[in-house]
Amino acid sequence: MIKDSDYEGDISSDCPAIVYFIRHYHPDMVPYLAPIASPMVAMSRVMKKKHGEGLKVVFIGPCFAKKAETTEVDEALTFRELREMFDSLNIRPENIDPSDFDPPHSGKGAIFPISRGLYYTANNHEVIPEERVIIAEGQVNYKEAIREFEDGYIRKKHLMLLCCEGCIMGPGTSPGGKRFARSNAVGEYVTRKLQAIDTTAWDQDMEEYCKIDLSQSFTPEDRRLAAPGNEEVLKALQSMGKFSPQDHLNCGACGYDTCVDHAGAIVKGLAETEMCLPYAIEKLHDSIDNLNVSNEKLARAKAALKQSEKLAHMGQLSAGIAHELNNPLGVITMYSNILMDEAKEGDAVHEDLKLIVEQAERCKKIVSGLLNFARKNQVTLTETDVVKFMQHSLNSIIKPENISSSFESTITDPVAKLDIDQMMQVLTNLEKNAIEAMPDGGNLHVSVEGDDEEVTFIVKDTGSGIKKENMDKLFTPFFTTKEMGKGTGLGLALIYGIVKMHKGKIHVDSNADPLQGPTGTTFRITVPRGN
Ligand code: ADP
Ligand code: MG
Repeated sequence: MIKDSDYEGDISSDCPAIVYFIRHYHPDMVPYLAPIASPMVAMSRVMKKKHGEGLKVVFIGPCFAKKAETTEVDEALTFRELREMFDSLNIRPENIDPSDFDPPHSGKGAIFPISRGLYYTANNHEVIPEERVIIAEGQVNYKEAIREFEDGYIRKKHLMLLCCEGCIMGPGTSPGGKRFARSNAVGEYVTRKLQAIDTTAWDQDMEEYCKIDLSQSFTPEDRRLAAPGNEEVLKALQSMGKFSPQDHLNCGACGYDTCVDHAGAIVKGLAETEMCLPYAIEKLHDSIDNLNVSNEKLARAKAALKQSEKLAHMGQLSAGIAHELNNPLGVITMYSNILMDEAKEGDAVHEDLKLIVEQAERCKKIVSGLLNFARKNQVTLTETDVVKFMQHSLNSIIKPENISSSFESTITDPVAKLDIDQMMQVLTNLEKNAIEAMPDGGNLHVSVEGDDEEVTFIVKDTGSGIKKENMDKLFTPFFTTKEMGKGTGLGLALIYGIVKMHKGKIHVDSNADPLQGPTGTTFRITVPRGN
């Protein structure tokens, strides 16, 4: 064939795996498969000629692809299976006598299973000179050789292709075999055999059997899957975060040569997006980011929890204090009431005692208010004249001499429903804060506004003002800028709770920077009229 003048090149057909591959995936190349029987089939034909057509033939070799190669052999076993059979029947080298193969002997042909073996077995190297042969062995190489042959880069060459690196490394051999040691063992065996060969008998055998027809034909059996449509491939690429050619790293980590090949395989249902390493890494990064976000959220939740824990502690504390204060306050209330009854009405002492009674009463309310704070109680709404109420709150607090106060009302209907004890706490706390913000004196202006829906209490001072960075901390329990022992940081927290229970709003307006104009703070508490 090779000597023929119109020789176009061909592909050796002795490796059944290569033959399947070409028949299934390069069907156009089937005509180039050498139309020659494999050594197994050839030997089977020799055996049948020698022992008759009814002979049953069992092949034993290093490859499981042999099992489906032909119908001319009844069974094909691998060396592994042979070992298992030996093991189960307890057949071991030490308990059997060795004997040689029956003729016809292979002679040089025995070198065939090692790498480049087919080339070495060729009798006449003038017929197959090295430059006419291309040898490609192993998974990657044989595919490339076929592709290049099909694409016309290789012409008039004989392709010797093997799926494995020599049949000695075939999948039917014991795993973990040493390639070069095996090759060496086969080489030494063949040399030893050739030295001892009976050449006359061998020549006679060759003459007898060389007339056997060793031809073989192959049929294409296209198994290629239809190429997926461009759009689907594009979609699959995008699902792996590949939107432009720069995203195609073609790193091969997925097992496919290119990202497009991988995408095609995904479309065919043969691969997964997760097989793309860069994509998997990117996803991992995303999950790490997400994890960080959750972590941050967790930290915030923890802080909030701490806050409410503080509040709970405070609740316990105030419950304790309330319990202790209630009795002495009861005594004060009782005795001041008795004294007030005894004093003459209109007398200055009577007025003083009245104030004591009132303030002691308030103390009791505040104490139970603290308990409410801990228990997050509800409000008891009573119809109130808010103008009088506000004026009363201003009158009840002690004002240093350097602070002037003023009161104003623009409301027409002064009646609203409030929890008077709790709302009194709100107003007095605001007024106390205002006074404390004006250690060098100033003006405390208190006013009431309102419409049909709601009323607004306004407490305005000309004090130091609240710094911008403190504005969002004001209502946090225990936030105070006052020195130890002076401030508790609970006033505004309490106010916040009470106003919320009234379904009201708090608005703060403040300037702490003299360069921006006069300093001072205005608190506006707006609550619905509660009708
Ligand atoms: P405390 O009065 O015990 O410090 P508060 O909750 O009543 O606690 O107030 C918290 C903080 O808000 C105060 O320490 C102060 O810094 C600021 N603040 C409240 N009201 C005023 C105001 N009218 N002028 C300036 N700062 C104020
Ligand atoms: Mg305060």
